[in-house]
Amino acid sequence: MRRAEALIDLSALESNVRHLLSISKGKGLAVVKADAYGHGLIPVAQRAVAAGASWLGTALLEESLKLRESGIQVPILAWLTPLQDDFESALKKKIDLALPSLDHLTAIENAAARTSITPRIHLEVDTGMTRGGALSEWRALLNSVSESVKKGKVEVIGIWSHFARADEPGHPFNEEQLSNFKFRVKEAEELGIRPEILHLSNSAATLIDPKSHFDLVRMGIAMYGLSPDVENLGDSTKLGIQPVMSLRARLQLVKEVPAGAQVGYGGTAITSAATKVGVVAMGYADGVPRNADSRAGVRVGNRKAPILGRVSMDQFVVDLGNDSIARTGDWAYLIGSEGGDGYTADAWGRACGTINYEIVTRIGPRVPLVHIN
Ligand SMILES: *Cc1c(COP(=O)(O)O)cnc(C)c1O
Repeated sequence: MRRAEALIDLSALESNVRHLLSISKGKGLAVVKADAYGHGLIPVAQRAVAAGASWLGTALLEESLKLRESGIQVPILAWLTPLQDDFESALKKKIDLALPSLDHLTAIENAAARTSITPRIHLEVDTGMTRGGALSEWRALLNSVSESVKKGKVEVIGIWSHFARADEPGHPFNEEQLSNFKFRVKEAEELGIRPEILHLSNSAATLIDPKSHFDLVRMGIAMYGLSPDVENLGDSTKLGIQPVMSLRARLQLVKEVPAGAQVGYGGTAITSAATKVGVVAMGYADGVPRNADSRAGVRVGNRKAPILGRVSMDQFVVDLGNDSIARTGDWAYLIGSEGGDGYTADAWGRACGTINYEIVTRIGPRVPLVHIN
């Protein structure tokens, strides 16, 4: 029996994908970067495709290549590709590439010349996030690409951009980015660049902003059943999605402690009354943030037990309560439960000063993923 594991409910993933596709005006690209947000690249990709996702997307090219190696045939886009990346392999494996700069165009065309394969590119425009995509270089990039298209050196499959504040409903910056995007697309069209696919929406925009859907929505966090922003958009239940990951570890020890016991490194918690504590066999080496406070904890049996003191490298302590019937060896659910109300990735995000995205993607390699349903 394992010390700790993450259970990945693929039927929940499937129902989330179906839900997002049902509210989307376009097709769906399943975002499976960062090992599918910590949920396991290949099983998640396969199930997302089975559920109707017609595209897959990753940040890294290595991740896209792994998808191809697993036999997946649908179109795949990689969007974070330093110039030194293996573009030859990308072309040979028919991976679509984001194009954010003239330097990338040169690197990709060089690889194309060596392989005699025409690159499939998605022009990436910066519409206001000031992260990826061409900004001041956009016109020059369009000019070069239109020349390359005429010479048959590249094929433009898409034009795309990314929202910075899609999780803030009604924020004027979203309108600004949207109209900026349309303007950039028009500039491309004026040079004869007419891609088959425009894409702009992440999960938040997919959920709340149909006018930004265009031909394809990029489904990320919501596909994993988590809210892009709990405060602004509500939780999973409100959004009609189900968390895909549960996370559990064994209780290494259960013991009685008196009132006034200081718990953990630095003695940052002191028991206010006699109680039972549980030592949970998971720590920051497994991705449980060290700064988690007592707003997070575990569910053992039918009860929630908050964190006591600091999280250590391989373990942390929870307050089970004086009358707890928990025993050494029981499962403690950090996320989810065996039934009933448990802690969520949202709660962990709050307790750690971060967001649910970071909680699930940072689960460490020592924690096996178990794919169920
Ligand atoms: C991560 C990412 C997404 C998905 O974002 P979510 O907020 O998880 O839906 C979409 N597009 C790009 C370019 C991304 O990097």
